[in-house]
Amino acid sequence: MSEILVLVDHVDGAVKKPTLELLAIAKRLGTPAAVFIGAGDKAAAAAETVAKFGAEKVYAVDDAEIKGYLVAPKAEALQQIAAQANPGAILIVSSAEGKEIAGRLAVKLDSGLITDAVDVQEGPVTTQSVFAGNFTVTAKVTQGTPIITVKPNSAAPEEGAGAGTVENVSVTISDAAKKAQIVASQPRESTGRPELNEAAIIVSGGRGTGGNFDPIDALADSLGAAVGASRAAVDSGWKPHAFQIGQTGKVVSPQLYIAAGISGAIQHRAGMQTSKTIVAVNKDEEAPIFELVDFGVVGDLHTVLPAATEQITAR
Ligand code: FAD
Repeated sequence: MSEILVLVDHVDGAVKKPTLELLAIAKRLGTPAAVFIGAGDKAAAAAETVAKFGAEKVYAVDDAEIKGYLVAPKAEALQQIAAQANPGAILIVSSAEGKEIAGRLAVKLDSGLITDAVDVQEGPVTTQSVFAGNFTVTAKVTQGTPIITVKPNSAAPEEGAGAGTVENVSVTISDAAKKAQIVASQPRESTGRPELNEAAIIVSGGRGTGGNFDPIDALADSLGAAVGASRAAVDSGWKPHAFQIGQTGKVVSPQLYIAAGISGAIQHRAGMQTSKTIVAVNKDEEAPIFELVDFGVVGDLHTVLPAATEQITAR
């Protein structure tokens, strides 16, 4: 069976959950193998984590020469590993960085690329949700090594020990890949909540909050969820743009999406309708959001959400 390369998404060696999801997908397609590009002294711990989720092999690239630059060197490193491993497919998390790496890699390998898959099955055959969710596309790469970026929450991580054999790989980075350098980077202030793109549960508020997000925040915290917002809420200055879900905001696909005081405009749906389970709380029983929900509550969010929070907290 061919190796299926999974590019490890991590922060200082701490492997992020979407990578574990990709390993579950890789198991369906062949032999899961991870590519860790990071500090040499963090490789062993990262390898241990990915091995627990099935990685048979871990290609480790010390990023000493890479980390001061943007994404181009990572694409070159992956290209060189792909030349060595001849993988059956390469899976990358659908983040902004992941998609840029994937695009550059596809050009280098003269391979087909599929972005933002929400499912990948044997073949590999992918499923994408396009045109603001109005079409579901099933696709397959027909040239070269399939390179696929997969949205977070598209699969559940599956524990199951792999050998996790670490192979240190030294790569050569061209001057052309070093044309953009990082001059400063500052971590965003942590909200203590999961990141919107990766959260398994999201509670979102809209104009119906009237600017009072306390019930949204409290419910989110009781569920360990991230907080999102509609554009109306963002345009009103109640939440920063980083919270916006939709066509001109983030596109999310959590296990559970709770929309409170959100009408369900097409542009909002474009960002959340591939969520696995959708719950809406709206005082207008005719609100369009009720057309796509799994569970709907007609009521005032300022009453319904605190009651739900109380029940959840009491458990
Ligand atoms: P409204 O449509 O005003 O709905 C508020 C809802 O709250 C109503 O259904 C009301 O019944 C309910 N409500 C009121 N009070 C309560 C209460 N106490 N309890 C419960 N329910 C209550 N929108 C996005 O969200 N994301 C985008 O990325 C985005 N991009 C856009 C791009 C373009 C080019 C355009 C033209 C628009 C875009 N929009 C986007 C805007 C979108 O069309 C809607 O205007 C917006 O989503 C509406 O936000 P809302 O649902 O919060 O507000």
